[in-house]
Amino acid sequence: MIQRVLNRVPAYSAFLTVDELSESSRRLAAAHPDIVRTVRIGASTDGEPIEMLRIGTGSEQLLFFACPHPNEPIGAMTLEALSAQLAVDEDLRGTKYTWNLIKCIDPDSTRLNEGWFKGPFTITHYASEFYRPASFDQAEWSFPVVYKGYSFFRPIPETVALMTAISGLRPRFIYSLHNAGMGGGYYYLSPHKPEIDGALRTLMTDRGVPLSLGEPEMPWGVQLSPAIYRSTSLVDHYDFLERFGEADPASPILPFSTPARCTRRADRVRPPGATVRRRQRPPGAVGVRSAYCDWSSVRSVGAPSSSSSAAVQPAFWVSATTV
Ligand SMILES: [Zn+2]
Repeated sequence: MIQRVLNRVPAYSAFLTVDELSESSRRLAAAHPDIVRTVRIGASTDGEPIEMLRIGTGSEQLLFFACPHPNEPIGAMTLEALSAQLAVDEDLRGTKYTWNLIKCIDPDSTRLNEGWFKGPFTITHYASEFYRPASFDQAEWSFPVVYKGYSFFRPIPETVALMTAISGLRPRFIYSLHNAGMGGGYYYLSPHKPEIDGALRTLMTDRGVPLSLGEPEMPWGVQLSPAIYRSTSLVDHYDFLERFGEADPASPILPFSTPARCTRRADRVRPPGATVRRRQRPPGAVGVRSAYCDWSSVRSVGAPSSSSSAAVQPAFWVSATTV
């Protein structure tokens, strides 16, 4: 089945823009009105609609979202190709499921990457047109969360859209699609299902994708087996800081554990003139995210931990980073 799906993926030569992704979804819904529909789950920071494709009529809900990091459009293209096949392939779709696909959870920031989406695909061009918001402005990293001495209740609009989809669907499965700029592929799982670790690795190795076999991305990361990690979590981060002597573990985790603190720290880390955070690329932020954000003072909260704190706990949350 998987190879059959892969064999039918078109030979894309460029990434689709936000408008092209939306237009493709509309065409698909118009062509298959009994199977495919588009729904609006929210609006971006700049007021742009955030859309979700719903394919199938089954009672079990599966949720996929792409571009949580807007410079990683391979996930959007994956959902673009998958949606086209799901619309016409009943075997693939299954009668039990409804597939909910958010091709672009952050349209504002994805638009700021479109300068490199059509090539030339060189490191220089990518770097010159690259944009990535600070962690606290990312859809997957601003869920409300309370843990020990830490609390956060200011999700960005893109996160609110995701929360709306999750709470409305109560999905069995959530898949967040990331890409790696270099190195191998790896997975984050919550909860861990050891029985599928081998199959997940084989999905990559059978197709020539190397596994990332190094240390976790962050010092509090937990490797479950080769190339399989526990989903990043504020709980792990907080406990790590506490264990190694941080007097106030809440302090370094995020810039805004309270609204007042949010404003003060966010102002400090943004460069002058970057008051409109999306459509205007901050001066000097070309190609380097550190120009926009002081990474030494900013940390992030992972969606899996916060989803449980919001009493929305999917049966399974997987995040894959592939090259
Ligand atoms: Zn990513």
